[in-house]
Amino acid sequence: MDEVTIFIGGHWRHGGGNLMHSHFPADGSVNATLHAASLDDLQEAITAAERAWREPAWRNMLPHLRAKILHKVADIIESRIDELAQLQSRDNGKPLAETRGLVMSAAGCARYFAAACELLEGELPTPRQADLLTLSRYEPLGVVAAITPWNSPIASEMQKVAPAIAAGNAVILKPAEATPLMALELARIFEQAGLPAGLLSVLPGKGSVIGDALARHPLVRKISFTGGTSTGRRLAHVAAEKLIPASLELGGKSPTIVLEDADIEQAARGICYGIFSSGGQACIAGSRLFVHENVHPQLMTRLLELARGLRIGHPFDDGTHIGPLINEKHRDSVLEYVELAKREGGRVLCGGEIPADPALAAGSYFQPTIIEGLTNGARACQEEIFGPVLVAITFRDEEQLIRDANDSVYGLAAGIWTRDSGRALRLSDRLEAGTVWINTYKVFSISTPFGGFKESGLGREKGIQGLKAWMQQKSIYLATGNNVNHWCD
Ligand code: ADP
Repeated sequence: MDEVTIFIGGHWRHGGGNLMHSHFPADGSVNATLHAASLDDLQEAITAAERAWREPAWRNMLPHLRAKILHKVADIIESRIDELAQLQSRDNGKPLAETRGLVMSAAGCARYFAAACELLEGELPTPRQADLLTLSRYEPLGVVAAITPWNSPIASEMQKVAPAIAAGNAVILKPAEATPLMALELARIFEQAGLPAGLLSVLPGKGSVIGDALARHPLVRKISFTGGTSTGRRLAHVAAEKLIPASLELGGKSPTIVLEDADIEQAARGICYGIFSSGGQACIAGSRLFVHENVHPQLMTRLLELARGLRIGHPFDDGTHIGPLINEKHRDSVLEYVELAKREGGRVLCGGEIPADPALAAGSYFQPTIIEGLTNGARACQEEIFGPVLVAITFRDEEQLIRDANDSVYGLAAGIWTRDSGRALRLSDRLEAGTVWINTYKVFSISTPFGGFKESGLGREKGIQGLKAWMQQKSIYLATGNNVNHWCD
C-alpha cells in the first residue's frame, strides 16, 4: 500500500487534510492512502497559481512553446499506455481494454489543444468605422477550477487541463474522492514535460469541503465541472454569485431509437456497447431504448443474446467486457433501481442481480440488465441509474416517439438506428440532445463540441471553442486618424 503525496503549487507533499483511500473495486483492497488537501493547502495552491499565470515568461510564451509542453505530455502518455491504463483500472475498475482507449484519447486531446493554441487567432471585426481599427483578442481567465468525476478520470481531466493550460491559465484540479491517483499522475507528467511550477495543482479531497471552497474562492475565475446534476446545479449557483463562467457536463438518460428499417445486427451491437460498456457508468450511456414494434422481436432476441454473452470479470483479464462498478454503495443503488423498476411493473429480461460467481464475490459487480414493460414516465425510465441497466419501450407512432424521447429532464445524447439517413436527420432535428449518433453510439472526436441540452449541462468542451471557453475576449479600438473628440467644446 503506497502513501501518496499530493501536488500543491509545484511541490509534492502530504496534504494537511484527512486520510483518504483509493480502493480497487475488483476486490475492495486499498491501492493507496493519501492525506487530502486542507483549506490551507487550497490557499497555497491558489496563491501559487495566481503568481504563476501572471508571470511574464508564461503570459508571453509563444504558442508553439506552450504547444511543445502539451506535445511532450502526449509523448509521455503514449510511452506509458499500459501502465497508465492499469493505474486507471485500479482506481475505478474499468476493464483494461477500455482504459487503454481512454489513455490514448488523453494523449490525442493534449495534441489537439497543442495544435489549437498555435492556430488560435484573434479577430479584426469588419465593417469598421472610418478612422478606427478594432481588434479583438483572446486572453486567459487566470486561475481556473477543474472538478472531475470518477468514471473516466484521465479523459475528463485532460479534457479540462489541456485546453485550460493551452489558453494560458493556471489550473487547480480537484479529482473525485474515489479516484485521486490519475490526476496526481497527470501532474507528474505535466511537471516532467516542463510545465512551470504553480500552473497545475492537484487537490484531492471531499467535494463538499475542498471542491466547494475551490469553487467559492474569489481568485477562481471559472468552474469547469463534470459530475452529477445536483452538484452541477449547486456549482452553477456559486458561479452565478461570483459572476464567473461555469461549464457543466452533467447527467443523462439518453434515448436510443430503433426504426423499422434498421440494420438489426448493427443496432443490437451498438445499443449493447452504448449501455453496457463501462458497466453503464457513463453520462452518455444509451439507457432508454425505443424500438419500433415491427422489429421488436428480432431486435430484442439479438440484444438479449449479446447481453447474456457479455463477460463480467476482473478488469485486468483479457476479454472482460464488464468490470466491477465503482463501489458497493453504488452497486447497491443500481440494484435498488432494478427493484424499483419491478415494483413499477417492469419485467427483467436478463440480469438484474449481483453475479453469483464466487470468483466475483469480493468486487462490486452487477449483471447487464434489460427491463421491459415500463412506460417512459416510470422512475426507472426518468432517473439516471449510472449502471448496466437498459429500459426498453416499444413504439409505433413517430410523434409519440419524439414526445417520449424528449420527455426527460436530461438532454445529453441520443442514438438513431435506420437505413434512411434523410429520416435520421429529420429526427435528429427534433431530438433535444447535445449529441445525436446515427447508426453508431458513444464514439467521439476531439474536434467536435460536446455538452448537454436541458439539465445535462451548460457550455461545450472539445473543438476550437473548447479552447476559447477558457479565455475571455478583449476588444481594442485604435484611432487611425487624427480623431479629436469635440464633445467638451
Ligand atoms: P458523482 O455523483 O458522479 O459522484 P458528484 O457530482 O457528486 O458526482 O461528484 C463529481 C465531482 O464533484 C467530484 O470531484 C466531487 O468530489 C465533486 N463535488 C461534490 N460535491 C461538491 C460540491 N458541493 N462542491 C464542489 N465539488 C463537489
